Formats: sequence, C-alpha cells, structure tokens
Amino acid sequence: MTGVITYRTREDGFLIVLVELTQSSIFLAFLLDPWKAGYRDFDQHKGSLKDLKRKLGAPKLKFHEIPKKEAALLLRQNVEIAHHLGIDIDEDAMKWMNKLGVMKIDYKQALYRCFNCERNDLSTDQIDEILAIASREITQGVIGTDEEEQYFKICAECENELHDKHEGQSHHHH
Ligand SMILES: [Zn+2]
Repeated sequence: MTGVITYRTREDGFLIVLVELTQSSIFLAFLLDPWKAGYRDFDQHKGSLKDLKRKLGAPKLKFHEIPKKEAALLLRQNVEIAHHLGIDIDEDAMKWMNKLGVMKIDYKQALYRCFNCERNDLSTDQIDEILAIASREITQGVIGTDEEEQYFKICAECENELHDKHEGQSHHHH
C-alpha cells in the first residue's frame, strides 16, 4: 500500500497502532490490548497528529514509525484475540483493516506473546490462563475499568534472563 505510514506506541495497559494516509492527511488510530482483550477501539481523524493526541486525551504520547508488515501483523493478532473472545469489532475499523490487507494475513502465531520481548509466544498454559481471566471479565463487564486484573506474563527466555540477572546481583551482595 502506498501513501501509508505506520506507527505504534505502547503505554501501560494499551497499545496504539496508527496508520497515516499521507495523501488525505487522515490518521487511523487502532486502540489495542494485545495482553488481554485484543482490539478495543477505533478512531478516524482528519488533521494533525497533535490534534489527534489531544483528542485521545494523551498529548504526550510518542509514536514510533514501524514497518507496515509489523503494523498489519499487530492488528491481525488483536482481531484474532477479539474474535476468540467474541468481542465485536467496529464496522469502520474492519473496513479499513480489509483495505490495509490485515485480514489477508494467515495468522499462525499464538494469541498472546511475551509481554517483555513481544517476540516469543507465551505457553499454552499462560494463554489459557489469560483467556480464562478475559472471558470472566467480559462477562462481569469490567474490561477497561480499574477492576481489571493486572498481570505480566513473560516467555521462558525472558524468565531465564531475569533469573540470571537476579542471581548475578545476589552473588554480588555475598
Ligand atoms: Zn520474552
């Protein structure tokens, strides 16, 4: 797709994939929760990025440009999570994702990836645990509220690294 620049920003509790349509100065903002509920919200904005940030209530957000493929894969993953949990996706958001080729991707990865490296898939047990929490919270209607359960799940590789660091530190103290 030409005339498209893709960005992302990650904050505590949400991730935004931003698609800039350069010819029409339109920004497509996809609010995602790749750690639990997947696709969350969509906003289409004509104007400057500064105005969009103000509209999102986060003037200090910093967006980093990412490859289009990476943006598409992120969107695909979050659609996958939402579908798995029975969460409806906004019609306009779907329309754009089809145009951007997101739905053509054959998604083969696990639903959730390591919260730390964002590269490795989580284990089946970790994924089942997240799905159980998400399903319960959807039923309770607490997704996106303060009552949401917080957790931080990491892959075995990151676990080992953290463990090594910890060991190193304790040796240092002895
Ligand atoms: Zn990891």
